[in-house]
Amino acid sequence: KAKSKTLLDVIIIGGGQAGLATAYFLRRTGLSYLILDAEDGPGGAWRHGWNSLRLFSPATWSSIAGWMMPPVADGYPARDHVIDYLSRYEERYQFPLQRPVRVTAIERIEGGLRVRAGQQHWQARAVVSTTGTWSNPYIPVYPDAESFQGQQLHSAHYVEAQPFAGKRVLVVGGGNSGAQILAEVSKVADSTWVTATEPLFLPDDVDGRVLFERATERWKAQQEGRAIDKPVGGLGDVVMVPPVVEARERGVLHAVRPFTHFTRNGVVWPDGSETEVDAVIWCTGFRPALGHLASLGLINDEGRVEVQGTRATHEPRLWLVGYGEWTGLASATLIGVTRNARSTTTEIAQFLADKEN
Ligand code: FAD
Repeated sequence: KAKSKTLLDVIIIGGGQAGLATAYFLRRTGLSYLILDAEDGPGGAWRHGWNSLRLFSPATWSSIAGWMMPPVADGYPARDHVIDYLSRYEERYQFPLQRPVRVTAIERIEGGLRVRAGQQHWQARAVVSTTGTWSNPYIPVYPDAESFQGQQLHSAHYVEAQPFAGKRVLVVGGGNSGAQILAEVSKVADSTWVTATEPLFLPDDVDGRVLFERATERWKAQQEGRAIDKPVGGLGDVVMVPPVVEARERGVLHAVRPFTHFTRNGVVWPDGSETEVDAVIWCTGFRPALGHLASLGLINDEGRVEVQGTRATHEPRLWLVGYGEWTGLASATLIGVTRNARSTTTEIAQFLADKEN
């Protein structure tokens, strides 16, 4: 006789910082839960960050719930420090976790949801999706991009500057990724920075900590129905980390407006002139990685799921944590995700405590 599949209380899809922070609060509820993560090891998207990547906040401002990120001797934490922190965080709390498991679909069943990964499946009364954005890099459409014979690479897959040494490179995108990659590629390559509008640089003394404080202040004011002056600086503006300051001192931190189209060997600018290019590095951001939710029919025209807070408006058993501002203030940052993970767990515990569920 076939063994009936156990119905867990909660499945968390994704084992990055958002998944772990959610598990931290679930662990204290007594509910049964399981994390399914597509990576080969701990760290979520940080496993894929480029070699020189550093946080733009100090360690004490880059922690998730319960256990602080260990301090670093000098400057801001490097990528490997974050991976090590998340690895030790997992060990510390001994979360039930399976990897690598890439969830491909979710289906509604009596009293819950079935989570599929190829031939395998699990069932739970509630699901939290924390799959982040890294696996869904965004590249804007430029005419004739497919005819361009040079190399095209998204920042999601950028590792280091060395392979671009001596080449003619376009770095496209005006956020922090664009500024930081331009800063190091410009040391070894003939590089041009291309941004849709003039990049917004924060004052040298503003780091991620100040940005978070300002965002929190805006959030509080909104909660209390107070109006406040919009402070300078959004979470996407360029933070003047040391390599970017150094690039400014070298005189290379200048951006030009975009080209109109690609040619076989390069790009054509609005004035009709053509530049030969060996490689284009797209630092043009990400979209939420929600392919596994398509089977529920919840993805809207913006490629998102409609939510109230973190709960899917049209699927009462589904929550989304992480991703960006649309699922909660600063939810795609280490320091910001805790608040959303906590409120999500409280909602799930209440929902499941209701006899009907
Ligand atoms: P992720 O880390 O992407 O984790 C999602 C997990 O889900 C991954 O392990 C993935 O494999 C898994 N997954 C995806 N799809 C599936 C599926 N279908 N089935 C199963 N598992 C799946 N934040 C800061 O706080 N400070 C900073 O200084 C900072 N700097 C940044 C610099 C860069 C260049 C970037 C790109 C981001 C930075 N961030 C920073 C933002 C943020 O902290 C990260 O994007 C963070 O990784 C988001 O965490 P997450 O858990 O939501 O998603």
